[in-house]
Amino acid sequence: MKTLRIGVLSLQGAFREHIQILRRLGAEASEVRLPQQLHGLTGLIIPGGESTTIGKLAVTYGLMDPLREFAAAHPVWGTCAGLIFLAKETDSLQPLLGVMDIFAKRNAFGRQVDSFETDLFVPVLENGTAEPFHAVFIRSPYIAAVRGNAGVIAKLSDGTAVAVREGKWLATAFHPELTSDLRFHRYFLQMSRDD
Ligand code: GLN
Repeated sequence: MKTLRIGVLSLQGAFREHIQILRRLGAEASEVRLPQQLHGLTGLIIPGGESTTIGKLAVTYGLMDPLREFAAAHPVWGTCAGLIFLAKETDSLQPLLGVMDIFAKRNAFGRQVDSFETDLFVPVLENGTAEPFHAVFIRSPYIAAVRGNAGVIAKLSDGTAVAVREGKWLATAFHPELTSDLRFHRYFLQMSRDD
């Protein structure tokens, strides 16, 4: 079976949690801070944190073009700030990879509900129509527009798009690395295996 070597962009944010889960699931997981650390990887996760900080550090470390080239050929998953960083468009001026054909609205849930948790039915996950995925949102974006080949895979009950897949790219507005439900990580590993 194909060895899965998944990098986690480790400039800032919740990268350790992703690495722990990937290792529990039997994948090789490594921190990525420099362009050469992308070599030999099967896929990449861009974690939650602060997308402006992640973007500025990526510019400083010369990672913008190497990350774009990597994404053109490999599976990439962005969670929360990672979703924003992957997007072609957002509502603030900041460095974006511009990979996924989505408009990410930053800090979109307003003050009172800056952070909240909810159960989502995500049909693409194992048992996804019967067993809800408990999703943790922390100053999360939502996906205000989905274009081209990008398709919504999870919505809030009011229809707000909170997870999308576009070919080999996945983006979730919430934080699957902060719960014990590993189905999203397994889903991304399967995408990486199939690639
Ligand atoms: N609010 C952050 C941003 O705009 C994202 C928050 C998160 O990743 N938990 O980048």
